Amino acid sequence: MAAIINVNGRITDEAGAVVSVMDHGFLYGEGVYEAMRSYGRRLFLFDRHLARMRRSAAGIQLPFPWSDSEIAARVAETMAVMERDVLRAADATENYARILLTRGIGELNYDVDACPRPTLVIIVKPHTPHPAERFTRGVKITVAPMIRNHPGSVDPAIKSNNLLNNVLAAQFARRAGAFEAVLNNYRGELAECSRTNLFVVRHGEARTPPLDAGLLPGITRAFVLEIGASAGVPAREAVLTDEDLFAADEVFLTGTTTEVMPVVRIDDHIVGEGTPGPAARHLLQEYRRRAALGA
Ligand code: PMP
Repeated sequence: MAAIINVNGRITDEAGAVVSVMDHGFLYGEGVYEAMRSYGRRLFLFDRHLARMRRSAAGIQLPFPWSDSEIAARVAETMAVMERDVLRAADATENYARILLTRGIGELNYDVDACPRPTLVIIVKPHTPHPAERFTRGVKITVAPMIRNHPGSVDPAIKSNNLLNNVLAAQFARRAGAFEAVLNNYRGELAECSRTNLFVVRHGEARTPPLDAGLLPGITRAFVLEIGASAGVPAREAVLTDEDLFAADEVFLTGTTTEVMPVVRIDDHIVGEGTPGPAARHLLQEYRRRAALGA
């Protein structure tokens, strides 16, 4: 579906949105990003996403020379054009927004001093929800042969545009006919999936790998850890292995557009009863209730 795009303050349709090939985001993958969606036309947990983006930028020594309110104003401006020109015609109700920040135009070398101005891109699209059956019936996942990046390499805590490892895992999942691929870390522990965080449930308690396992500190993951108890599902961080994954009563994934998605199969292994369990159901319900309220 059509996107409205803001490149350094200039708002156009997809065809008009252009970034130079001399941008170090293109040449070297030097960039960070965030992806958000709206509930009731308001971007959910926007402040948390922006805070993570600042941390990601700092993680690759990328300047972020705008205040929160300046970024919010640019996003709002772009979303307003989307709502005026596209959303009504597309018969969609919610927005998807992606903010990207790259090193900007420079020379054909790694010299950051030759890159005077970072590039800020905001992409707004109508939000396409997952088919309802993914939530009501659950999804299949697989375990990827590749491992999550070592935190001493490109730290997975940085939400960078260097997504090749994630892309390879996602391609593996696709070939396996799976919705997602689980990645272990370099120590052989569970880390996360290619684009979602991972939870296992045992005896009514939800557990997810700790940040120290080397993973993206998902905004949805943190929110689920916070609201778990109020949904009757206490949730905490714990070091986990494949054994925990295969012994789980329930498994679910979290992410901005994935929300809380139940997993019913891991390759040929059936999780629990093979249908979404009560923990994932209650968490999804509570997550959506809070999202509709805006927090
Ligand atoms: N892990 C990875 C690798 C991701 O790319 C994402 C999506 N941003 C997530 C987890 C989920 O994070 P969030 O809840 O912030 O969308």
